[in-house]
Amino acid sequence: MNYQPFYQLMQQAGFSQWLDSLQPQIETILNPTRHGHLPEWLDILAALPNIAASSMDFNADVIRVGEAQDCDTETRAQLMDLLKKLHPWRKGPYQIHDIFIDTEWRSDWKWQRVKSHIADLTNRVVLDVGCGSGYHCWRMLGAGAKLVVGIDPTLLSIVQFQTMQHFTGQHPIAVLPIGIEHVPTQLQKFDSVFSMGVLYHRRSPIDHLLELRGCLRPGGELILETLVVDGDLGFSLVPKGRYANMRNVWFIPSCLTLESWLQRCGFDNVRLANVNTTSIQEQRSTEWMTLNSLSDCLNPNNSTLSIEGYPAPKRAIFIAERA
Ligand code: SAH
Repeated sequence: MNYQPFYQLMQQAGFSQWLDSLQPQIETILNPTRHGHLPEWLDILAALPNIAASSMDFNADVIRVGEAQDCDTETRAQLMDLLKKLHPWRKGPYQIHDIFIDTEWRSDWKWQRVKSHIADLTNRVVLDVGCGSGYHCWRMLGAGAKLVVGIDPTLLSIVQFQTMQHFTGQHPIAVLPIGIEHVPTQLQKFDSVFSMGVLYHRRSPIDHLLELRGCLRPGGELILETLVVDGDLGFSLVPKGRYANMRNVWFIPSCLTLESWLQRCGFDNVRLANVNTTSIQEQRSTEWMTLNSLSDCLNPNNSTLSIEGYPAPKRAIFIAERA
């Protein structure tokens, strides 16, 4: 994985100081001896065929690179085989030439809910924290962002992003293999910071909000999407064990509670843009993600409850500004 061209773009965007710590950090993280599957994934990346794409589209529900006629039958079969080895594909959908990657999540539905509420991304420098394979990062680029920095510590997601990028060629976008805790505090550089589907995975949600705030320039915009429950101001669910079969879920606040956390953390103009119960059409098993999905995590007799008996997953989108 070659991040050099992206580092140059970051330098031009004023991130020189961060690059001093980022570059060695990424080198360490991507050392093939540190992760059991990484050597195999790097082999897959190296084996991807080179196919010239006659067109691409990052501004539509399906992130698409190339067209069917760009690719012969033999190459297509070879590509299909390599892509399937990167299972499970969770966030998408993507299309590479005529191969449609029907991911577990219809991530386009989340973007539909988000996009009309946010500041115009034209020329903005954007951070997407916990971006997975970078589906929404491509949408941000498609919406006109000047530079899109995605971060995610899950290496399979990084490899899936690199797979797309292999076919699209270089654009001002990257997914870096780091967590939010690796971003220097008080960077204060990004015009927009997205944190979607991450807050409930953090043991200290207030610290997460402060970290996000530290990434924003004064006046910059936070887009926060997370699980919520019904409840009064102050209420927050902390599951006893798993929540909808997920092991690492900590705080699921009510909307009023989350609003108060944002205000307490120094955000202004906090507004609730959307609340949506996740449907089994939006998150489901597919040929590209054959493991259990949402329908397996709900109570079979009452789909308003998770299998543990908690309220079924419901998500809110908050928008706020750094004062
Ligand atoms: N933002 C995407 C994906 C959400 S899934 C969406 O909304 O569809 C949550 C992601 O957060 C996972 O990909 C996981 O790897 C990532 N994540 C977990 N811990 C993180 C951390 N400390 N910093 C940044 N991302 C993290």
